[in-house]
Amino acid sequence: MTDISLETLCAQADHHRDPVSGDVVPALRAATTFARDEDGELPAGLRYSRYGNPTVLQAEALLARVDGAREARLFGSGLAAAAAAIGTLRKGEHIVAPRIMYHGAQDLIRKVADEHGAEATFFDQSDPGALAAALRPETSIVWIESPVNPTWDIIDIAAAAEAVHGVGARLFLDATVTPAVTTRALDLGVDIVFQSASKYLNGHSDVLAGCLTTNTVDDRWAEIVRHRNLTGGVLGAMEAWLLIRGLRTLPIRYRAASANALAIARHFEGHALVEKVLYPGLESHPGHAIARKQMTDGFSGMLSLLVNGNADFARAVTRNLKVFLGAASLGGVESLVEHRASVEGPNSVVPGNLIRFSVGIEKVDDLISDIEQALRSASGKE
Ligand SMILES: *Cc1c(COP(=O)(O)O)cnc(C)c1O
Repeated sequence: MTDISLETLCAQADHHRDPVSGDVVPALRAATTFARDEDGELPAGLRYSRYGNPTVLQAEALLARVDGAREARLFGSGLAAAAAAIGTLRKGEHIVAPRIMYHGAQDLIRKVADEHGAEATFFDQSDPGALAAALRPETSIVWIESPVNPTWDIIDIAAAAEAVHGVGARLFLDATVTPAVTTRALDLGVDIVFQSASKYLNGHSDVLAGCLTTNTVDDRWAEIVRHRNLTGGVLGAMEAWLLIRGLRTLPIRYRAASANALAIARHFEGHALVEKVLYPGLESHPGHAIARKQMTDGFSGMLSLLVNGNADFARAVTRNLKVFLGAASLGGVESLVEHRASVEGPNSVVPGNLIRFSVGIEKVDDLISDIEQALRSASGKE
């Protein structure tokens, strides 16, 4: 992206009006197959929607511009995109990822490494030197996210890129929580940006999609694209069209959610029933200085509270919430809450007293009083 601001790009969906109809919004082009002309040629080079559909291509072009990328590819879900990327891991190679991270992607890394005869190392994401120490000459992929879900520890992305490139590996960033509104990941040295478009990019909890963007158009990228086309994990035209609509409000949704989350974090820091607030926007957060450098327009709507009590207390607080809906996922306009240790099961390394909030764009006073009443009633101090 060079000539035009992110806000304008998104608001107008980078849409070029059809000269015949003059329509101001992109059309939904549902066709799965495209007719050949009299010479047997495909007029637009489109053959069949598994290889390319006009609406999906339009969404990909918009996402490439939003991220400042040369290429973008959409998949049927975030994990379909992650599977194509991590699936490029070969026998004898080594993959590095944080010990605490989005657990679905970590399960996938373990499975692929095991099946492909590769090795995986999980480093302590709260220790700034741990990533570099985990690298080896045979490391080929480093998969990070920052802030780390659900503790919101910060990893220095530019420093990671330098270390990772030093051993000739590729840096993948899960930027689901940090879209280009706040983090220009490719400019920081990331090779491939992964996003679950089901979250902030779409923003309305009604589309499942995954996105990869890159400026490193190399053999590994070609293999990822080949994987998608061979396994058919593409996005449908309807979902792509809804995603374009969601993207039009991405910057204002992201900023509103970030402002709400910061207000909640400030309110509950030092609260008698809260042991700790985990939010990189707080000055007291150990990663705050780095977060300010790499999250330049909001610290996201994601925060966690370590409540003053055990896992049962945290579960009771979660159940008592009325405005926050108890549901998986994040990045929608509506606020959601989860007790992550319960969701992740017995192997979870997430603290039992941690409650994860995906803060939406509601009136923040309603969200704060909801958490207040849930804490009070769970502690029996009605
Ligand atoms: C949701 C999510 C994913 C997986 O994406 P899906 O679209 O649900 O398949 C990966 N990483 C993060 C951080 C997520 O929140």
